[in-house]
Amino acid sequence: MTDKYGSRFASTARADESFPPLPAAKAVVPKERWSPNRSSEHLDEAALAEDPIFGPDTVPSSSKLGPTGRPLPIFPEPPPLDHHGPATVIAMCNQKGGVGKTTSSINLGAALAEYGRKVLLVDFDPQGALSVGLGINPHELDLTIHNLLMERRTTLEDVLLKTNIPNLDLLPCNIDLAAAEVQLVNEVAREQALSRALQPAMADYDILIIDCQPSLGLLTLNALTAAHSVIVPLECEYFALRGVALLTDTIAKVQDRLNPDLRLEGILATMYDARTVHGREVLTRVVEAFGDGVFHSVIGRTVRFPETTVAGEPITTYASTSTGAKAYRQLARELLCRPSRAQQAASRR
Ligand code: ADP
Ligand code: MG
Repeated sequence: MTDKYGSRFASTARADESFPPLPAAKAVVPKERWSPNRSSEHLDEAALAEDPIFGPDTVPSSSKLGPTGRPLPIFPEPPPLDHHGPATVIAMCNQKGGVGKTTSSINLGAALAEYGRKVLLVDFDPQGALSVGLGINPHELDLTIHNLLMERRTTLEDVLLKTNIPNLDLLPCNIDLAAAEVQLVNEVAREQALSRALQPAMADYDILIIDCQPSLGLLTLNALTAAHSVIVPLECEYFALRGVALLTDTIAKVQDRLNPDLRLEGILATMYDARTVHGREVLTRVVEAFGDGVFHSVIGRTVRFPETTVAGEPITTYASTSTGAKAYRQLARELLCRPSRAQQAASRR
């Protein structure tokens, strides 16, 4: 399990259950490009501007180190779009619960929407936490993504809800979806059901984010089959890396059998507490394990996030100037700085 994923995955196979000791890091970007010891005089800015990873506008800022221990690139404001679509589909996935999948889906989606991207959030966890986080009571819904998956007569427009945030729409979900796991088992192409259901949205949106349930069952397989890439939120705590190898194995199987274009977008460190040695140690280990697969943007631990759930809105509107809102805006810019899928496909050719 190496190059198919790029070397981002190479070390993850081994970074499993036993947190310490981990093998040496294997980063995609040669270490000298981001080594903290390398001064800015040595950076070849012209070469970096041509660089497929950093791209023209993401030359690292001179010497400021980010929380991941690497120089923090400058992530510029994304340029406005003159049209929308075709969509990139991102699955927010980790079979561990409580790691920040739903929080990241909502707030990354809201931040991308602020930057003028048309975003569709797909609640794909029968708990319906994403719907609740946007102020919707999922038990009162007549139509949810379950109807879209199981009934031919239900269309995407029937289920789609507008949120209070411009550019941010939602496919809501409730406990009915739990039945789909059983119902889909006997369907033809059962892993492709979500991909089929989302097709009508692909032309109109720029980004779809699928909030996965905390398991690697059939619903998650559907999400990984529908997705172009996966973001894996990891809570910065001692057992963060537990089970990650199982997740990357599942992604590998989906790549082999269902979706060869699936790739790892990045590992997102969440609930990071920079004040504790423990938090910093865990983040160091995560970067050792995944190298450049870790987003530079790190989400700090703050009580503001649980508050937003109660308020039923993203942190970007609930506490617009908070560090949490800024962190998700930075993540959105980091994501948008990356080469487009078309550019990546061209560079593979
Ligand atoms: P998951 O979807 O992976 O189960 P959630 O996004 O629902 O995880 O987060 C689990 C709990 O942790 C929620 O109560 C949420 O409000 C809280 N939470 C998420 N991110 C943070 C954070 N950065 N700081 C503090 N609490 C957080
Ligand atoms: Mg969740």
